[in-house]
Amino acid sequence: MAVVVAVDGPAGSGKSSVSRAASRALGYAFLDTGAAYRALTWLALERGVDTADADAVVALLGDFAYTTEVTDAGTVVRVGDADVTIAIREPRVSALVSDVARIPEVRTALNDAFRRLIRASDAPGIVVEGRDITTVVAPDAEVRILLTADEAVRIARRSAELAPGAASTAEQLRERDRRDAQVVDFLTAAPGVTTIDSTHLDFAGTVQA
Ligand code: C5P
Repeated sequence: MAVVVAVDGPAGSGKSSVSRAASRALGYAFLDTGAAYRALTWLALERGVDTADADAVVALLGDFAYTTEVTDAGTVVRVGDADVTIAIREPRVSALVSDVARIPEVRTALNDAFRRLIRASDAPGIVVEGRDITTVVAPDAEVRILLTADEAVRIARRSAELAPGAASTAEQLRERDRRDAQVVDFLTAAPGVTTIDSTHLDFAGTVQA
């Protein structure tokens, strides 16, 4: 059974890039759980399904052929034959993903899939990042981390990634955190979870921590 490193935190905390780099440094596998919520949201948009219609979104689960493949260039995300690696990061997906993630049946189905992927990993360890990994998906993980940073820093980092429309980025990030926090608490560390605040750390320093 692989060593599990669980990492939670808000949008723009650098979870994905830090977790990916840490997994590489450790020779561990990497699982970005937000990518699955994003991919299901992409499928809803693709099929013209209203993400506010929980039953319609749940009905998509039966047809959600989600796979990821770690390559040297990064993680390739596919739904069926479609490579959605880039598409799932588009603002139209970010704007609606919280609708999809708040549906209990979606969370149950994806969490089961994440636990299966963790069990199936043949690497010595796996870094798993998301919002409820330390608390729900892998509460027994050997290492549990809450990665935070002050909101202004998170917005600045995210804006630097997506140069145009910095103002709307800030608004979107705040709104997504607000809505996500109604579903899972990723702003306070659960008992036994170590907080790493990256506000004053650079990327390499955060990976090292
Ligand atoms: O991590 P990322 O920002 O890509 O996650 C996208 C969305 O997926 C989050 O805003 C949240 O709605 C949802 N999510 C979740 N639980 C997780 C990971 C992501 O609800 N474990």
